[in-house]
Amino acid sequence: MREIPTWADPATHIARHRPDTALFYFAPAVLQATARRFLAGFPGLVTYAVKANAGEEVLANLVAAGIGTFDVASPQEMRAVRAICADAVLHYNNPVRSPDEVAFACEMGVASCSVDDRRELEKLAPLPRDVEVAVRLALPVTGAAYDFGAKFGAPPAAAVALLREVAEMGFRPVLTFHPGTQCADPAAWGTYIRTAAQVAHEAGVRIGRLNVGGGFASHRDGAAPDLEAIFDHIGQVARQEFGPDAPGLLCEPGRAMAAEAFTLATRVKALRGGNAVLLNDGVYGGLFEARDIGTARRITAIAPDGTPRNGAPVARTVFGPTCDSLDRLPEAIDLPSDLAEGDYLLFAGMGAYSLSLATRFNGYGPGETVTVDGLG
Ligand SMILES: *Cc1c(COP(=O)(O)O)cnc(C)c1O
Repeated sequence: MREIPTWADPATHIARHRPDTALFYFAPAVLQATARRFLAGFPGLVTYAVKANAGEEVLANLVAAGIGTFDVASPQEMRAVRAICADAVLHYNNPVRSPDEVAFACEMGVASCSVDDRRELEKLAPLPRDVEVAVRLALPVTGAAYDFGAKFGAPPAAAVALLREVAEMGFRPVLTFHPGTQCADPAAWGTYIRTAAQVAHEAGVRIGRLNVGGGFASHRDGAAPDLEAIFDHIGQVARQEFGPDAPGLLCEPGRAMAAEAFTLATRVKALRGGNAVLLNDGVYGGLFEARDIGTARRITAIAPDGTPRNGAPVARTVFGPTCDSLDRLPEAIDLPSDLAEGDYLLFAGMGAYSLSLATRFNGYGPGETVTVDGLG
C-alpha cells in the first residue's frame, strides 16, 4: 500500500510547501469522530448519503468507524461504495430511475428503494420482494437552506395511495422524507414524523421503518448546530406518534457527516482597490455551493509561514481565479486588514458538496487532498 504522509495540521503543511493550487485538508480522525457522534446519539440506524462526498478516503473511514449502510443515487455511487466495502448495504434513494438503472440495482442487490410516484413503483417490479420500498413524503416545511420537497416527494394524500400499492405489490413498506439540506430546526423533523404517522394510519399499512433523511445542519457560521437536540426530538416525536409499535428509525446525513472533516485552503493571488481579493479558487471550485446557500464563514487567514493574520476585519469582495465575472462570492466577507498577497484563506467545515461539485473550469479547481492529524 502507498504510504500516505500525514501532517499535523494545515498551517504546518502550508509553511513547508506553500501550495499555489487550492487544496483540501482531510482529517480522518474528525470524520470518524463525527460518525461516532451520530452512531451514539441517533436513535436508530445511521447511513451515509454518498453524494455529499464520495471520496474513497471518506467511504473507507466511515466503514472503519462502523457505518455499513449507504444512501446511493446512481450506479456509479453503488460501484464506489462496493469498491470500498464489498458487503455494504445499499439504499437506492433517487426516486427517479431508468429501467437500466433498476436492472443494475437488482444486480447489486440493493436493500431499499424510495419512490414518490406510481410509475416509479411499477418500474421496481423486477426487484425481489424482500426489498424495502420507501414512499417519499413531501411537505412545505421550512427550516432548511433549500427545500428538497420542491423536486421529489408525494404530498400526504398521494403518499397514502402509494404506500398501499407498495404493500399490495408485496414489498416491505417504509416511509421516508428529507427536511431539506442544512436544516437546524428540530421542529422540521417533528412535522414530518407526525404526518408520516398519519399517512401510515390512513393507509392502514404498518411501516417497518421510518427514514428521517438527511439535512442535519453543519457548522458554517456562528455557533455549531446542536445535533443531539435534533436526535432527541426525532426519537421523542416518533415514540409519541407511533406508540409502542414505533417503526425503526433511520437517518441518512450527507453534509453533517462529511463537512467538518475537510478544510479548503485557498491562496490570495492579488489584492485590488475597492477591497477586492482575488483567490486561486472560487464558486467553480471548492466553493461551488456559495452561490446557492451562501459562503461558509469559518474563515481564517494565515501568512505563508503559517502564522495567523490578526488585523481588524474589513469587508471584502472575493473573486475566484477564472476569467468569468460571475466567479465571485455572493456576499462581502470580513477578512483581516493585514491580509497580503500570497497569504492563505482556510475555509473550515468544507467537506460536503465541495469536492464532489468542483469543476475544472479554466484549468483551476482543487488539487490533491492532503491528509492531516487535525484541522487546527
Ligand atoms: C442529499 C440527500 C441526503 C443528504 O442530505 P444532507 O442535506 O447532505 O444531509 C439524504 N437523503 C437523500 C435522499 C438525499 O437526496
